[in-house]
Amino acid sequence: MAGILFIISAPSGSGKSTLVGELRKQVTNVDFSISWTTRPPRGSEENGREYHFTSREEFERMRDAGLFLEYAEVFGNYYGTSRLSLEDARRQGHDLLLDIDVQGAAQVRRSMPEAVSIFVMPPTPKVLRTRLRNRSRAEGVVNESELYRRLSEASKEIENYRDYGYILVNDILDRTVAQLEAIVLAERYYRNGEPIAFRSSRVLEVAAACRQTNSQDRLKPVLEAFGIGGSNGQQQLPFGDDLDED
Ligand code: ADP
Ligand code: 5GP
Repeated sequence: MAGILFIISAPSGSGKSTLVGELRKQVTNVDFSISWTTRPPRGSEENGREYHFTSREEFERMRDAGLFLEYAEVFGNYYGTSRLSLEDARRQGHDLLLDIDVQGAAQVRRSMPEAVSIFVMPPTPKVLRTRLRNRSRAEGVVNESELYRRLSEASKEIENYRDYGYILVNDILDRTVAQLEAIVLAERYYRNGEPIAFRSSRVLEVAAACRQTNSQDRLKPVLEAFGIGGSNGQQQLPFGDDLDED
């Protein structure tokens, strides 16, 4: 059985790592690609678990040797997916999940248009700011300029949502996890004929409602809150003029 390639992208702090962690507890036979990055480890991250941490020189050497399926520079650091991740998953007949940014997702879609792509949005800019700040606090480092940089990028990344097959608005965690699981099960059902053991019609309905093409009403308030698609065509940073404590 050919595995399915799932791509998941989101502005930093939207909850993508949390969602992927929960999905992996619920669904078997989906491998997670551990990316290579030149950014330093954060909080309790360990080399080989969240990322393979490496130097810029080594990353560039790997890139020049053609070892990456895709790579991009994000927030001043390189991030890339090793081709080996895909080969390993294929060999085992497993699905593979890539947690990559919008630039990397575009590269993968070009070479593998059959990939299933999922975009995760935070419900509002304020919620995103709170999540980023809470995560920084939990990791013991609150770097205001890095926080501001990630917030400023969020709207630009969200503008790419139309390129994705499915959209999740990560408001209530349990519900978003159930939606992500439904998407994986529904794609396995449609592509591989894999039966859905549990409440199958409900799973297909939930997944269908998350399709980007069915999401306009659900997305309207989120896009407005991020200043996207406004009538005057001007986009403002929707986080307020200051970054006061929440
Ligand atoms: P990302 O991987 O997208 O950068 P994380 O998964 O690290 O984001 O989540 C950022 C922060 O938000 C973490 O502290 C996480 O616990 C929290 N979080 C994630 N999803 C939710 C949610 N639905 N509700 C409340 N907090 C959340
Ligand atoms: P973070 O530093 O918060 O872990 O990740 C920053 C951004 O880099 C996120 O948008 C994440 O999806 C993206 N990213 C992580 N790994 C890869 C990768 O292998 N390729 C690309 N293109 N982006 C990645």
